[in-house]
Amino acid sequence: MARYTGPVCRLCRRERTKLFLKGERCYSMKCPVSEAVTDRHSRAYPPGEHGRDRMRQGSEYLTQLREKQKARRIYGLLERQFHNLYVEASRAPGITGENLLRMLEQRLDNVAFRAGWGASRAQARQFVRHGHVLVNGKRVTIPSYRVRQGDTVSLKPSSRELFHVRRNMDTLDRALPPWLESVGDRFEVRVFSLPIREHIDEPVQEQLIVELYSK
Ligand code: SF4
Repeated sequence: MARYTGPVCRLCRRERTKLFLKGERCYSMKCPVSEAVTDRHSRAYPPGEHGRDRMRQGSEYLTQLREKQKARRIYGLLERQFHNLYVEASRAPGITGENLLRMLEQRLDNVAFRAGWGASRAQARQFVRHGHVLVNGKRVTIPSYRVRQGDTVSLKPSSRELFHVRRNMDTLDRALPPWLESVGDRFEVRVFSLPIREHIDEPVQEQLIVELYSK
């Protein structure tokens, strides 16, 4: 499935917030939208020649659109994939916005990211694509694969010594969300329960996305 391959930091700049799309760099002074960066070097305004002019308040539609784009970019989906997921979420029982976020969290690349193996969702996605991730002991190379309650997700034993995995595990120190539990070492996690809204710490107002797609 296709994915966005363009410059990444401009996505954060467009949303005027840190989306943590690049791993280590996002926590450093190199991040162009970091609050710690001095005014002279900060680029916390939308990209493009007229980026600074676009700092004004927008319409209700624009607010909803930006919220949808932010969620889509955090999880690394293209528009069609995201919209298809929304349609599925709207047909499922329960609250559409929460269903949508839960389905996004259940993606295998997100689980590999939450487990701390990948520094970013993009890197975690690459680990999945390259066959480093097992679900219930079987190799799964589909990043959008949706994990279910009781599933065990692990890194292939021969992949546990990969330089990037080791470095991420040593430096990131990312806490597991409450819906995942560690099995033995941190190279294996079990889906303890499906995520509920309180478990998802991404700064997304899902109601605005539902309003946008309901128009
Ligand atoms: Fe770039 Fe990460 Fe900063 Fe976003 S949070 S602007 S991806 S360094």
